[in-house]
Amino acid sequence: MTYPRDESKCCSAVKADGARCRAYAVHGTDLCAGHLGLGLVRDPSGAGRKGSVKSAQVRAERAEIRKRGLKQRLADAAERELIDSILSAYERGIKSDDPAVAVRAADSLLNRVLGKPKETIEQVSERPDELRKLAELTVEERDALWRQLTADGLFDPDATVADVVGDPRGQFVA
Ligand SMILES: [Zn+2]
Repeated sequence: MTYPRDESKCCSAVKADGARCRAYAVHGTDLCAGHLGLGLVRDPSGAGRKGSVKSAQVRAERAEIRKRGLKQRLADAAERELIDSILSAYERGIKSDDPAVAVRAADSLLNRVLGKPKETIEQVSERPDELRKLAELTVEERDALWRQLTADGLFDPDATVADVVGDPRGQFVA
């Protein structure tokens, strides 16, 4: 059973095919929601654009996740395959005859293990007098100190990098 439409309540717009719109008019108007341009139909191609922007974002996020996954796999591979080479590079540096090279290598390794100092200024203000004096030593004085420490057995010059990595503070015996 069909109910006859109340034509007076129908949309007055005429569609592209020449037929009158059969949708009910929005109360108080003589057009239906579609012909008033309400809701999704207001801008169907805009809705499509929003949809494609959204899916572009989703694609970019997925690509980023894949990229992070690749980076992580590369990092894992480097750690697995190259760790010995990396450690031996540090070890060669630390045991270098050139004190400047040794200090740089040790510093670099300790930064890796302990994290870089946050702020140089902060570090200076927190540094005890003994360490400040140590930092102010000339290369020759430091070299002499190094020889003294190793001669006295306070610092093991044959310590491996693994020893340093295992317990970096263990290297600095008071
Ligand atoms: Zn209509």
